Amino acid sequence: MMEKMPLSIIYDVTKQCPWNCAICCMGASPKPEECANELSHSQKLNLMEQIAAVAQEREVRIDFSGGEVFTDLRNVEVLEYAAKLLGREKVGVSSSGYKIGDTLAGRLSKCISDCEMTMDSVPGTSYSLRPKGYAEAAAQALPFLQEYGIQTGIQTVLAKENCKEGTLRALYTWLCEHRVDNWSLLRFYPSGRGAAYAGQCITEEEEAWAVRLIQQMDWENASEVKPEIDFHYTMKGHPKHSQVCRCVRKSIGILPDGRVTSCFWAIDGEMRIADGKFALGSVLEKPLQELLSGEKAAYWMACEHSCELSKPEGKAA
Ligand code: SF4
Ligand code: SF4
Repeated sequence: MMEKMPLSIIYDVTKQCPWNCAICCMGASPKPEECANELSHSQKLNLMEQIAAVAQEREVRIDFSGGEVFTDLRNVEVLEYAAKLLGREKVGVSSSGYKIGDTLAGRLSKCISDCEMTMDSVPGTSYSLRPKGYAEAAAQALPFLQEYGIQTGIQTVLAKENCKEGTLRALYTWLCEHRVDNWSLLRFYPSGRGAAYAGQCITEEEEAWAVRLIQQMDWENASEVKPEIDFHYTMKGHPKHSQVCRCVRKSIGILPDGRVTSCFWAIDGEMRIADGKFALGSVLEKPLQELLSGEKAAYWMACEHSCELSKPEGKAA
C-alpha cells in the first residue's frame, strides 16, 4: 500500500448554471428540473462531516464547483460549514463570478481561501465557445474578491480559437493589469457538450508552443506583481508535468447526487460515470471514509497508474 498523499476533493455541488457554454464538460443546465436528484441541503452539510472524518486520516482540501455554486445561495452555508470543520485555507471555489458582489465576497472571505474563475479571452472580445458576457462576469467579480483578500485565479482552457499569440498576450496583459494572483492553463478536451467541438482540440505542437510562449511572457515580465503561472500537470514542457494518474491517491470527484468518482473527468454529459472502476460508490450509501478504504479505491491506491480513461488521449484531472 502506498503512502497516503493529501487528497484534493472536487465537489460539483450542482449541475445548475446560468450559462450554457458550448464546451461544458458536464452538460450543465439553467433549468432546475434538469438538475433533479442532487443532495439536499442537510445531505450537503452531512457530506462536510464525512469529509472532516477523512481529514482525520489524511490532509484534505475541498474545491466547490458545479454547475454554478451560487445558483443557490444556501450553498454558502455549506462552504461556511466546510471552513468550520476543515479550516478556511482548505476550502476553495470555482465560479463564473455569478452573483459575486460586495455582500457575497464579504461572506466568502470568511470561509474560502481562493476563488478561481474561467476566462478564455479578454472581456469585451467575442469567443464562440462561451456565451456572451461570460468573461465579463468574472471581470466584474474580481475586484470584490480582491477587496476582501480572497486569492484570485483565472483558468484558461486552451482551444484552437484562443491558442493564438495575440489572444494569449492580450489575456496575460489583462491579468497583470487586474492583479490576478494565479493563471492556470488547461487544454480543451472534447467531453460532455464539448464532444461536438473535437475540432477545437489543440495539437501537441500547439500545446508545446503555448507553454513556451506563456513561460516567455512570464520571464520577460520583471514586475513583482504578476500572476503565478500554473500549467496543468498533463501539459508537457514545464516542471510540474507528470503522467502519473491522480485517481484516489491525490484526488476524487463528488457529483451533485453524492456519487464519488475516482476521476472527475470520467463522466459524460449526462453525468454517467464512464467505467465501473471509476465509480467508488455513493456517500448516501456509505460514509466517504469507507468508500476511500474500500476495494474500488484500493485498486487505485495499490500502485501508480497512467491514464485509464478510454478516450484516445485521456483527459486531464
Ligand atoms: S462550463 Fe461551467 S460555466 Fe459553462 S455551462 Fe458548464 S458549468 Fe456552467
Ligand atoms: S484524467 Fe486520467 S490520469 Fe487524470 S486522474 Fe483521470 S484517469 Fe487519472
